[in-house]
Amino acid sequence: MSKSIVIAGASIGGLALAANLSRRRWEGRVVIATEPTSVSRRLIAGCTLRRGTLARLAAAWGCSVPTLVERLTGGKGAFHSLTGSVARVSAGGKIHFEQPLVVHARPTSELPLGLSMRHAAITEGLRCSMQELDVSLVEKPIGGPADLASLAPTDDVLLVNATLKDLLGAPALPSPRRYVVACQAPCTIAAGGLRPPLDPHTGYFPFARLEDGSHVAFFSPFYDALSPQAPWYGVNTRIVSADAGFDRERELQSLVNGFERLAAALGLELHEPAETLGSAIMPVTEGPPPQSQPGTFEAGRAFSSGAQAIYVDGMLAAATGAHAFADALNSGALDPEVAVARALRGIRFRNWVMQEIMTRPFEPVARLLRTFPWPIGCWFGIDWLR
Ligand SMILES: Cc1cc2nc3c(=O)[nH]c(=O)nc-3n(C[C@H](O)[C@H](O)[C@H](O)COP(=O)(O)OP(=O)(O)OC[C@H]3O[C@@H](n4cnc5c(N)ncnc54)[C@H](O)[C@@H]3O)c2cc1C
Repeated sequence: MSKSIVIAGASIGGLALAANLSRRRWEGRVVIATEPTSVSRRLIAGCTLRRGTLARLAAAWGCSVPTLVERLTGGKGAFHSLTGSVARVSAGGKIHFEQPLVVHARPTSELPLGLSMRHAAITEGLRCSMQELDVSLVEKPIGGPADLASLAPTDDVLLVNATLKDLLGAPALPSPRRYVVACQAPCTIAAGGLRPPLDPHTGYFPFARLEDGSHVAFFSPFYDALSPQAPWYGVNTRIVSADAGFDRERELQSLVNGFERLAAALGLELHEPAETLGSAIMPVTEGPPPQSQPGTFEAGRAFSSGAQAIYVDGMLAAATGAHAFADALNSGALDPEVAVARALRGIRFRNWVMQEIMTRPFEPVARLLRTFPWPIGCWFGIDWLR
């Protein structure tokens, strides 16, 4: 009897796992079940694909990075260099950006360093490319393991949960110690034009000290067919303690306020935020996820980078984890979950360093960034390039 894998959720991880298995001519059958798509201009989930993420996704779909970019946006929303700098509120309440440290500058390369677009458009583009692969996509919301198992074409089946919901009865994770608070929106260029250090074709992340603490934001060129007037994108994040005093509304309000101020100081305006601004509060996961129950694979947990949104690495981790899982399953050389944990060690470590940067006192971290711009720039560049 041949095997099959039935995946709940057409997330980046779910789609990449199916594509990787199909490309490797895995002996079994692959089915993905997902909720029907609803179209919204609001930015929900990750919008920036690093070059490393694009490369892994392109490999999974058996095409080149330029072909993938062409399919996703026709090249719009791509950027070729990346800078970052410390930012602080000066006397008078204005935001001052320090000299940027260059994370990567290779404007002549044909391959973009990154690409920003609405998350649903990324998954939609990947789903369309799925037609070339031997994968069945079924529109069906999954309520539990029996629901998912009913879609299996064979008796010997692995059930995969590629969502962050509890669909297969996995044990609950410990309560988080911290949350990431994030908000994001497409942006237009304000009347006065872009302000330095923002530069066309360049992604820029300010590490900012505002009145309420450290913020890490990211601004980049952007493309969304549903918001064609907005050539820029921004996301702002903070890490907050999950203690009893945590006030969701106050944190989100304060984050959006910081976002608007940072955008304005860079010459950007949030584009129709009533319809496009997305916000999220996500638990930070710590340590490796627990082993999945027999006959199941909790891909949503296993592919986590730690803290979402702060380091542009959630989709990178999903694409990397999917590749490792499919490789191990196909070769039988290693327990696939162990292979995923090994493949994600570096990404999780760099994500943890970013969490430390965001939660330690601001001044010593800012001094470090200022004193060692070159090695720190190289460190930040790692996952962008490969
Ligand atoms: C604000 C924000 C900014 C981010 N920025 C970035 C970034 O710039 N770069 C980056 O790489 N990552 C980023 N991330 C992380 C990235 O979005 C996630 O890591 C990635 O999308 C995977 O998330 P997910 O597992 O929640 O899946 P999702 O992307 O949420 O997908 C889940 C899928 O499962 C489907 N589904 C859900 N429930 C069911 C069900 N019951 N039955 C069937 N199907 C179901 C949904 O319809 C959906 O298709 C960001 C995240 C946030 C929140």
